[in-house]
Amino acid sequence: MSGQLTHRSAVAPGYMPFDDMDTTVREFADSIELMTSPVPRSIEYLNAFQPHRFNEVILATSASPDRQSYLSKMASFENSHRADVYLGRDRYPVLISSFKRIDRVQNLVGHGNFNVISFDEMLNYGKRYSSVGEFTIQEREFLEELFVANARRYGFLGDKVITELTASIPKRDRKKVDQTGHFLYRGESEALYKKLRADLGDNIVLTSGIRSVVKQTHLFLAKTIASKGNLSKASRSLAPPGHSYHGVGDFDVGKVGFGRKNFTEEFATTKEFHMLVALGYVDIRYHRENMFGVRYEPWHIKVV
Ligand SMILES: [Zn+2]
Repeated sequence: MSGQLTHRSAVAPGYMPFDDMDTTVREFADSIELMTSPVPRSIEYLNAFQPHRFNEVILATSASPDRQSYLSKMASFENSHRADVYLGRDRYPVLISSFKRIDRVQNLVGHGNFNVISFDEMLNYGKRYSSVGEFTIQEREFLEELFVANARRYGFLGDKVITELTASIPKRDRKKVDQTGHFLYRGESEALYKKLRADLGDNIVLTSGIRSVVKQTHLFLAKTIASKGNLSKASRSLAPPGHSYHGVGDFDVGKVGFGRKNFTEEFATTKEFHMLVALGYVDIRYHRENMFGVRYEPWHIKVV
């Protein structure tokens, strides 16, 4: 996979919306295209949205005779699979408008602050700034629905770690990490990161820290758009809102200069990753054959 982004010019100068997003270059390019153009109405695109099919998702319960299908599905998480669950086609306009409005909030508050913004703060920015515009009832309901949805229905079996849509992250509990644009929780996460840097040197850096419900929602909407409404595919590589351990202390690290490859399996081939393992830092949350419906993520440091 090429690490070069050729679509940067389509984005406002100085603004990189997805630089910490676990996504492929192609998905990224697709999302940018969607973000910077009016809501697409092409029949072809709408046709990609399928009706709900909630009954036959292949889950990964240990007793399942479908374990083998599950593992092969996860091995090609980036493809669509039989029995994947799609967002209804009728929800497509609200998916796009919600994404774009949240995106404008990010533009307004800056990429760093956006990592820790709460749902209520987001709504308030909409009310107070015409550059964002007030969230419509449909958008608010859609975002709430997405948050309370049972993610098992589309094949994601991880825990729900944040149960309130309006959960906020108090300033006193978080620390901005210099030159990364990311935050860590004070206490265990911050201490672990400091120790990790002291042991491995400056070649390892935080690539994603605390993500509020809003931040995770924004990423998940982008994934869903890039996946043409395939919620199962989106959730194979990104925890749905409320389900990310980034909300409660986990963080991602990468190798300086490795760019987007930090969010691919290639990271597991680096010297830095092997040092992390040798020094006992890597307690991988989502290992290669995990049963949570999530792809292998060697870059993700488990704290909680
Ligand atoms: Zn992560």
